[in-house]
Order: sequence, then structure tokens, then C-alpha cells
Amino acid sequence: MKVIATYGPAVYEDAILAKVCREADVLRQNISHQTPEDAAKVFRKLERHGVPVMIDTSGPEVRIQTSASIKVKKGEKVVIGASKSSMVQFDQNLYPHIKVGDRIYLDDGRVSLKLISKYKKEMTFKAEDNVLIKNRSGVNLKGRSVKFPALKKTDVQTLKSIDPTFVSLSYTRTVRDIKEARRFTDARIIAKIENTEGIKNIHSIIDEADGVMVARGDLGIEVPAEHVPILQKHMIEIANNYAKPSIVATQVLYSMINNPVPTRAEVSDIANAVLDGADAIMLSNETAVGKHPINAIREVKKASKHVAPYVRTKIPEQTCVKSIEPISDILSKTLHSIASKKEIDKIVVVTRSGYVARLISRFKLPKPIIAITDSKDVSLELNLLYNVIPMLWHAAPKRNLVQRAVLLCLERGFLSEKDTIVFAAAVRTNRPGWANMIEVHNIEDLLEFLEF
Ligand code: PEP
Repeated sequence: MKVIATYGPAVYEDAILAKVCREADVLRQNISHQTPEDAAKVFRKLERHGVPVMIDTSGPEVRIQTSASIKVKKGEKVVIGASKSSMVQFDQNLYPHIKVGDRIYLDDGRVSLKLISKYKKEMTFKAEDNVLIKNRSGVNLKGRSVKFPALKKTDVQTLKSIDPTFVSLSYTRTVRDIKEARRFTDARIIAKIENTEGIKNIHSIIDEADGVMVARGDLGIEVPAEHVPILQKHMIEIANNYAKPSIVATQVLYSMINNPVPTRAEVSDIANAVLDGADAIMLSNETAVGKHPINAIREVKKASKHVAPYVRTKIPEQTCVKSIEPISDILSKTLHSIASKKEIDKIVVVTRSGYVARLISRFKLPKPIIAITDSKDVSLELNLLYNVIPMLWHAAPKRNLVQRAVLLCLERGFLSEKDTIVFAAAVRTNRPGWANMIEVHNIEDLLEFLEF
């Protein structure tokens, strides 16, 4: 299981950050509270560690803007304006989108305010709970879809100035949102599914995106919390059918924000995400503000390792997904049957775009997939894929591909002479997305037959 660690104050110190970068597979930088200038500065600092960075956008989320926190008691009224002169405002123009009687939710959906009147751009709300209105608090509209753009101006400015490996697109609602983001970045787009519109369009979204995140925090506000586990399984299954990576996020090791060890329930949650067939687990506050960021990453790895042999993904025999190339599909399924045998220790693939590694990784076999590529960007992207170990070489050789790949793996310590591998690559073709050969080798035997 891959681990995404969220950057935050707990890992600001260089030595801790370096450790996190060694232990985690991807670093997430949440830009919703950063100016574009600060975001770019932080990104450059993270990038220097050589680990892929996932930029998490602010997206269409509405937030409170106020110069001072305000306590509102249950039953009291509060006026929220749409003009800069109001003491409390929304950062997006919500005025035309809500009507008297509608509710807004704050504090992760725990408290609500009901709109009781609207007049000249001012909205008067009645608190239905004791509410603390704080600057930058996220406002949830529970199930109501509001057509704000997929990216805020600050998101666009940030994306145009940096070059991250991944962008996690907050509140992805439709394929249009993903296409909009692609106008400003070449990064792999991870669709964060956190509202009902995203769930409704899940097939087309996963088909278009480069991966999906089950953003359980906001999703659990939009839909009843008891719906989230089934949605998680559903999204992961679809992602595996489309050969796209999936990420399970939020409250995975919540208690480890303070405690050095996880609860039994948290360990079970990790195990269930692995058994569902997810590629990665994302840690949020556990690494951003928690007391034990490194331990939290290690706990995910430990818990997931133990259940890995029990994972069984359901991949349809006949893959009817447009984006899956039929020849490579069958080749990857054949490779999977071979690799499932106990005689095979590891899988080695040579891949230009990473596509074949994705096709193989979707089976979630408990065996390392060493994916050799000549693209730095692809090698960074591959970090997110289940059990994939990316390896960079300068250029794929024209001759003796298998031998050269194996020698490189031996040199870098990813294979031993005792290993038996199944190898896949595309030879004598430049067709994108193609793999056309499988070979099985015992490394010791192969070394006797070196032809150069
Ligand atoms: C979530 O809601 O689960 C989530 C990952 O979003 P955020 O980035 O706001 O934590």
C-alpha cells in the first residue's frame, strides 16, 4: 500500500521532512490556505526532496471570511454579507444560490445555520447549534450543487507557476471540471470525490481522470456517514476496472494525531482499504499537525503488508472500458495468471508511459512490480501505484532488452540471482499503450545466457 503524507507544521523542520520523504511515496501540499506565491515557494522546497508532490486545490468550496472569530449561540442570528464591508462574508457569491429556509453547515457538518431572510446582498442566518464562526471555515451545502468554477483564481495562478506530479482536484463534479484543470497543468489529475454530483458521475469521471480519491471527510458530510464504506468499495472497484489508481483519505489514523499507536479500529480500516483494492492511503492531520508523523506512515505500511496476500480484485474478463487497449489488456491478464504462481517472485516491466504498469498493478498481486522507464515524470507518477517500484534508466536499449533490464535491477538491488521473474515490455513497436511480449526467467539461468 502506498502512503501519501500531507505536508504541514509537524514536518516543517528539514530533518523531519527528509525522513517523511524517505518513508512516504507521495507528499500532499494543500494550497487552500496559501497565497500563490507561498504555494510556489513551498512546492519548490518539497520538490527538492525528489518525492512526487500532489497539489490539493481549493476548488469550488465556499469559505467564511472574517477578521475575528464570532461565537453565535443556538437560536441567535448572524448576518453574512456578500460585500467587502460586511464583517462576515463568504469568499464566493453564495447570495443567488441559496433561498430562505436553506441550511449551511460548518465545522465538518457538525453545526448548521438556517437562512431566515435575504435583503440587498445580506443574508440573515439563525444558528441551530452553538456555532463558532472562524475565518477560512469551510461551508458545506449538503447535497445542493452550486455551479462555482472547479478552480479558484488562486488555484489557477498556483498551477500555472509550478509543475507538480499530481493535482488532486477538490470537489470534482463532472468530466468538465477535469478538462478545465488540464488547461492549466500537465500534472496527473486525481478526482477528489466528496459530493453527490461526483458520485453520480463516477464512471465518466474515473474514465477521464488519472486517479480517484475517496475523500471521506467531506463525503461523510454530504451523505450519511454509513453510506461512505460502500461508496469507498464501489469507487475502488470502478478505478481498478479502468486501471486507474485509487486513494482512501481522511481519519485513517486519527487517534495518532496525539497517540503513538493506532487503535484496533484504525488498523482494521487500513486493512479494509487494502482488501477493497485501493492503491494508496492518504494521511492528513496525522502527518500535517500530528505528534507522530513518521510512526503514522510506518503503521499504514505495517498494517497493509499483513493483509496484502488476501487481496482479490474483481476485474471483468471482458474489459469493456474504452480507455483500455484490448491487446495490452489480455497480455496483462495472462501475465497476472503467470505471476500468481508461487514460482514467480517478482514482475519486471519496461514501460514508456506507465500504462502497462497500471494494467498490471490493478490486480493488486502481493508481488513487487519493478517498472523501468526512461521518463522522469513517469517514474514519479508510478510511485502512486500499488506495489510498483519505479526505476529510471536513461534510454531503453534497442537490443537485449530483457538482459539489460535484469542487469540494471540486479545492480540497484531490486532483484537477486535467486529470483524468478515474469517480464513484460513492448518490443519492435512504438505504438502507445502497447505491450506485446512476456518472458519468464530465472535470473541465475538468464545470467548464463548473456549475449554481450
Ligand atoms: C476529505 O474531505 O476527505 C479530504 C481529503 O478533503 P480535505 O483535503 O479538505 O481534507
